[in-house]
Amino acid sequence: MMVDAYAAGVNAFLATHRVLPIEFWLTGDRPEPWTPADTIGWIKMLAWNLGGNWRRELLRLQLAASLLPLAAFALQVGGARVAGETLVPPGASPHTYEPTPAQLRRLSRARVLVLNGVGLEFWADKVIAAAANPRLIVVRTAAGLPVLAGDADEPGGNPHVWLSPRDAIHQVEAIRDALIRADPADAPAYRANAERYAGELRALDREIRAAVATFRSRKFIAFHPAWAYFARDYGLAEAAVKLGRVALHVHDRPA
Ligand SMILES: [Zn+2]
Repeated sequence: MMVDAYAAGVNAFLATHRVLPIEFWLTGDRPEPWTPADTIGWIKMLAWNLGGNWRRELLRLQLAASLLPLAAFALQVGGARVAGETLVPPGASPHTYEPTPAQLRRLSRARVLVLNGVGLEFWADKVIAAAANPRLIVVRTAAGLPVLAGDADEPGGNPHVWLSPRDAIHQVEAIRDALIRADPADAPAYRANAERYAGELRALDREIRAAVATFRSRKFIAFHPAWAYFARDYGLAEAAVKLGRVALHVHDRPA
C-alpha cells in the first residue's frame, strides 16, 4: 500500500517533470548506463521531494484528456487541483492515434478521462475496458451538442466541435461536472473557474463576431474539414480541401 502510494506520487511527478523512468526507480533495472543527467535528475527529484511537493502532487486529481485543447480546458477548470496528461501527442493526428501501454497503465489509476466524442476517440471503448478502473469517470464533452455531418471517414459526424468557442463552453461545463463528481469537496472552485473561463470564451466569441463583420468575403479554404463548427457560428463558408488523414495542428489549439 505504501509502495503503491509512493509509486503514484513518483508517477505524478514524472508525468509533469520527466526526470527519471519510474520503472528504474522502483525495480532497480537500468536500461542504460548512469549519466550526469541522471545525477542531476536524482538531485532534482530529492529536492522536490524534500519540498513536500510529491505529497501535494499525490493529492491532485489525476486526469487524462485525449486532445490538447481538452486538456487545456480541464486545466482551466481544475487549476492546481488536477494533474495529468494529454494522450494524443502534440502534432499527432487524433484520427489515427491510439494510446500506448504506459498511458493505459496510468489510466488504470486516473480519476477522470476527458474525451471529445463524436467518434474521434475510435479507441475509447477498448481502452476504457482495458484500463479496468471502476473509479474512472469518463466524460464525452461533445455529448448533447448538435453534430454536423462528417466526411467519408467520419460516419458519426464531424468531431471538431472544440474549434467553436460556443461549443467549447459546453465542453468546459461538461468537464466541470466531471471534476465535481470526482471531487465534490472542491465543487465551488471548479464552478468559479469554469464560469471565469466561459466568460473568456464568450468574449472571444464577441471578438470573432466583430472581426467577421468587417470581412469582404465569407469564404475560406481549409486543408482538413476541421472548421465546420466555427464556420457555422460565424456565417462563414468553408471550402475544405481534403488531403487524406493529415496531422494538422488545428487539433492542438483550444478554441
Ligand atoms: Zn481532424
